[in-house]
Amino acid sequence: MRLCVFCGAHNGSEPLYKHSATVLGQRLASEGIGLVYGGGKLGLMGAVADAAMASGGEAIGVIPQALVDYEIAHQDLTELRIVDSMHERKSQMADLSDGFVALPGGLGTLEELFEIWTSSQLGYHRKPVAMMNVGGFFDELIQFLDTLVERGFVRPENRAMLIVAADTDELIGKIRNYSPPKPPQWIRASER
Ligand code: AMP
Repeated sequence: MRLCVFCGAHNGSEPLYKHSATVLGQRLASEGIGLVYGGGKLGLMGAVADAAMASGGEAIGVIPQALVDYEIAHQDLTELRIVDSMHERKSQMADLSDGFVALPGGLGTLEELFEIWTSSQLGYHRKPVAMMNVGGFFDELIQFLDTLVERGFVRPENRAMLIVAADTDELIGKIRNYSPPKPPQWIRASER
């Protein structure tokens, strides 16, 4: 089993954020779950990979050639895949992974989370998508997601697909027990 972690290329304002990335990396290794991530060495991205590797786990990084220097590609991974585009990065990360987790991060993190969640909503995959709400980091976003349901723009069953966990115990437990909703009928099996 492998989990893809989306998280910030910065450490953020609170030490808790980097700490949560380290704890998650250690936990993935101890659970025998491989890490898939964006391949950078900076911020929470570097922290989760460093922790997974230091704890004897597997870490696969996928990074576009254009970002190898800018994001400082991590050279001490089980595997570093250098790809041609951001598109290729996201598609390889998705194919390699059995589930997805967002930790605190910025626009890149949010974009990756929403893309993978919306493709699940459309039935393109049936893998769990989760958010680690470290220290309430995502509270306002979660509240807004509920507003979207109340205002009739998001179906409750699609909102319910998103796993929200406060810590790694809850996260791993919910991911392991996830049962996907039935895929929409308009998606043919061959397209999933
Ligand atoms: P951030 O959350 O902005 O710190 O970015 C975290 C990671 O997301 C970095 O590796 C970025 O390269 C990546 N990222 C930034 N923009 C995008 C995007 N449009 N799609 C996918 N990943 C992105």
